[in-house]
Amino acid sequence: MQSYRELDPAGVRGVVFDIDDTVTRNGVLEANAYSAMHLLAGAGFELIAVTGRPLGWTDVIARLWPVRAAVGENGAGWAWVDDAGTHEGYFCTETERADQAVLLDAIRCQVETDIPQVQTTCDHLHRRCDLAFDVGEFASLPQGEIDALVGLIERMGARSSVSTVHAHAVPGAWDKAKGVARALEEVLGIELSAELERWVFVGDSGNDAAAFEYFSKSVGVANVREHLDRLPVPPRYITDGDRGRGFAELAAHLGGARG
Ligand SMILES: [Mg+2]
Repeated sequence: MQSYRELDPAGVRGVVFDIDDTVTRNGVLEANAYSAMHLLAGAGFELIAVTGRPLGWTDVIARLWPVRAAVGENGAGWAWVDDAGTHEGYFCTETERADQAVLLDAIRCQVETDIPQVQTTCDHLHRRCDLAFDVGEFASLPQGEIDALVGLIERMGARSSVSTVHAHAVPGAWDKAKGVARALEEVLGIELSAELERWVFVGDSGNDAAAFEYFSKSVGVANVREHLDRLPVPPRYITDGDRGRGFAELAAHLGGARG
């Protein structure tokens, strides 16, 4: 991994960023990271938040933060605000989502039976497309239980995605990279694959794996070092500071270059 200072800011159009442990610390948005978002938006960068958090949260984030869109549930859907009002988009069709809901319900029941100590997340009620279990937010599951949970999810026919806080059962083909690409197409009319070098992705952990692999200008905040064993492709660049401090360093590098 190279220092973020090696990232050439010329021509960068937008910054796609993860939320948990990328701009937050202990679950709270860091002041320097929020200021950095305003700095970037004020300098004309398009900002896209992408998170494993619920779509109910992205409705709020899209309204309150200086972002063009907020992608939730690891790419399952997105929310945005424009002059016409607030909008939502989904990776899968309504019919597909109805089928997926049946599968998720079956997985939730099986987890309750087989590993009853594993609980759904406290943000469960705000989710629309995935199912998430608390592994490290308020619970602290041993690795063996996380592995058992992941095994059950996959045996029942969903994919799994594990972040620092949650393990997700993912019933559709989305991931953070695919979700962002579809959101950019719907919200901004941008074909991401045609201008990939103009976008920077910033993240920190296992549920950013698809984005670290997809984006050529991928950046890990310093705490990504704790999760390199879960990342088939590490980020190309790394910040000096962890979490919001690292995000703010990167923002200053990009924004400063635009001057
Ligand atoms: Mg994260």
